[in-house]
Amino acid sequence: MTDTFIVAGAGMAGAKAVETLREEGFDGRVALIGDELERPYERPPLSKDYLRGDSRRETIYVHPERFYADHDVELRLGRRAVELDVRERTLVLDDGEWLRYDRLLLATGAEPHRLGIPGSDLDGVRYLRSVSDCDALRERLDHAGSLVVVGAGWIGCEVAASARTRGLDVTVLEPQAVPLERVLGRDVGAVYRDVHVDHGVRMRLGCGVAAFEGTGAVERVRTSDGDAIDCDVVAVGVGVRPRIELAERAGIAVGDGIHADQRLETSAPGVFAAGDVAGAQHPFYDERIRVEHWANALEQGPVAARNMLGRGLAYERLPYFFSDQYDVGMEYTGYARTWDRVVFRGDPATREFIAFWLAGDRILAGMNVNVWDVVDPIQRLIRERVAVDDRRLADPDLPLGALAPAEAS
Ligand SMILES: Cc1cc2nc3c(=O)[nH]c(=O)nc-3n(C[C@H](O)[C@H](O)[C@H](O)COP(=O)(O)OP(=O)(O)OC[C@H]3O[C@@H](n4cnc5c(N)ncnc54)[C@H](O)[C@@H]3O)c2cc1C
Repeated sequence: MTDTFIVAGAGMAGAKAVETLREEGFDGRVALIGDELERPYERPPLSKDYLRGDSRRETIYVHPERFYADHDVELRLGRRAVELDVRERTLVLDDGEWLRYDRLLLATGAEPHRLGIPGSDLDGVRYLRSVSDCDALRERLDHAGSLVVVGAGWIGCEVAASARTRGLDVTVLEPQAVPLERVLGRDVGAVYRDVHVDHGVRMRLGCGVAAFEGTGAVERVRTSDGDAIDCDVVAVGVGVRPRIELAERAGIAVGDGIHADQRLETSAPGVFAAGDVAGAQHPFYDERIRVEHWANALEQGPVAARNMLGRGLAYERLPYFFSDQYDVGMEYTGYARTWDRVVFRGDPATREFIAFWLAGDRILAGMNVNVWDVVDPIQRLIRERVAVDDRRLADPDLPLGALAPAEAS
């Protein structure tokens, strides 16, 4: 009898996991269960080129259509995993099908927080997670003159940039003082504020949303300070929450995500978690972290798959993500929840710079904006916990590699 490995959640993490199982020579049964109707695809284009209509549907998929059949992966689309019994090792799908597994990967991702304010159910109030959300939003934008974006996080900022690039009149509402303040802080968040203002977006900062108003469809947004902003469409991007319910009902330890050890195994032996849903113990940080980014799903899926095969590998990559807004591209690496200060290498006003978040003389995270090929040296400074001097760090003429002790003069 061959083993059965099941992956619940057909997003990036799940798709890369099944690919890795076959690459590693696993010849047992593999099933990939996804509640969307699409085969696994990448979400980053949904707020960027695909939303703008600059790229075709075919470009977003993780694998060609035939990949799953060619690799003998049972791809069950439009099927939701609804019950999990970790003692009996069974997973039940919403059509009543009952699957026995030897190893299970939970890669159920995350879903948008929904606002519960008056008018939330009006037509034209949209969220963006799936390609069908994106198709619906894109369709609305095709016929709209104005958009209000609620929430200036990454997705809100990218949607604002894409809509503005398409020529819409765009207003962003954000209760914090600058966009992305929670992740980047005031100084770097202000760079993004200025980028949007320069492109003609109205940034209503320090201002929340009280209600959506209209007859049947949204016509205006009522702000927390009593203003009314007319609009044809609203895009809400106020964060996501991990889809932990299946694990939680099965008695698996959960909190912010499904708890996993550094090998991505959950509290239930033989059950693993990867991607946005996993709150995994990180050996470098010595704490459990949950990362909601593409590269994390891309890399954790394969590690989980190898560990389903008993390899015992720790997942120890540093968090990494990217964002593109207008002509401003950036990569961020590291993990900084709190910091003492931010040091800039280069002038942020030129929109070609690196920012570093520091605690004491250690770098926690770095972000390169329109400066490329520096992620490796930044990661090295973080990983080796190099003690840095602010003045040298800020000096663009001093190569980043020269700050690490091995190359120090
Ligand atoms: C619009 C948008 C833009 C983004 N841009 C960037 C970016 O620029 N850079 C970056 O680093 N990251 C970006 N991200 C984040 C990145 O896409 C996610 O981190 C990544 O998709 C996580 O992959 P995942 O496989 O863990 O989860 P998901 O992509 O959420 O996939 C999980 C899948 O499992 C399905 N599922 C859930 N529960 C069940 C169940 N019980 N049974 C069956 N199926 C189930 C879900 O429907 C989903 O299809 C973006 C995300 C969005 C939405």
